Amino acid sequence: MFVEDPADEISRQALAFARRLNDDVQPVALSGDAYAPAAWGEALAQVTQERSAGAVVGPGTERGNEVLAHAAAILDQPLAANCTALEPGEPATVTRVRWGGSLLEEAAVHGSPLMLTVAPHAVTADPASTNGNIEVVAINAADPIYVRERVSTATAGVSLADAKVVVSGGRGVGSAEGFSVIEELAELLGGAVGCSRAVTSAGWRPHSDQVGQTGTKVAPDIYIACGISGATQHLAGCKGAKKLLAINPDAEASIFANADYAVIGDLHEVVPAISAEIRKATGR
Ligand SMILES: Cc1cc2nc3c(=O)[nH]c(=O)nc-3n(C[C@H](O)[C@H](O)[C@H](O)COP(=O)(O)OP(=O)(O)OC[C@H]3O[C@@H](n4cnc5c(N)ncnc54)[C@H](O)[C@@H]3O)c2cc1C
Repeated sequence: MFVEDPADEISRQALAFARRLNDDVQPVALSGDAYAPAAWGEALAQVTQERSAGAVVGPGTERGNEVLAHAAAILDQPLAANCTALEPGEPATVTRVRWGGSLLEEAAVHGSPLMLTVAPHAVTADPASTNGNIEVVAINAADPIYVRERVSTATAGVSLADAKVVVSGGRGVGSAEGFSVIEELAELLGGAVGCSRAVTSAGWRPHSDQVGQTGTKVAPDIYIACGISGATQHLAGCKGAKKLLAINPDAEASIFANADYAVIGDLHEVVPAISAEIRKATGR
């Protein structure tokens, strides 16, 4: 089991998935001066061969998919990415998320070891700590492609993927400056700011804020969609939310078909009014 980060929810979900398959799971973390996908994949392939592992499981994150894809290529095995379920057998049958979550595919996987990544938020995270028995493999191999520098874009310290509250803005916000009301509400609720692709395409917010098929998949307790029409590619990223509140003046907007709560109105009036009520109630 490739553990990207023992403290990370998505890695612990993948661990839970692996432990459902077999009790004998060895969590393996890779470490090196810098993240280098090919070298990490090679190291994972080597550990897999040394241990004669029957299956290699990783988190369905960008890094998890990348490292396992390299390892699978080296081991000459297929990789089943973003799985939600597995039926052991020869061949094994996996259910996996395709097209940003709008399709669940059932596929037969031929090969040994079985190589798969687990779709984020498909299973509940394993509460058991991995720290005690984690095998850390140091990587010394030189790789021409490596991460030289990491630039953090987190502002309020709440990561979008893990936030319990996400306040998200779409084209209806109207401008980059218009996001000040979204940011204020997110801060008052201790949440993170998200956005639609229309927003990142307009250059109002960075891609790291984008929710959806080609953005971050979120699973908050509540997702507040402001000025978002509800395209399937956007919903693919927020359908893991427990509750969805939509604010939009167009009563016909498709977001309302997926919403638990609806406010038919202008976000520039509704969102500041919600923030004002929170301030009144909390004295902030
Ligand atoms: C391959 C592919 C991948 C994609 N991936 C993604 C993705 O990851 N994430 C994503 O979001 N999209 C993605 N898209 C784009 C997606 O199809 C939509 O174009 C996009 O989600 C629309 O963004 P929007 O809802 O903000 O804009 P629009 O569809 O233009 O909707 C704007 C909404 O704002 C409302 N509005 C206007 N004024 C106000 C106001 N004052 N107050 C409140 N509401 C107001 C309007 O009524 C409207 O409903 C992808 C598309 C493709 C083809």
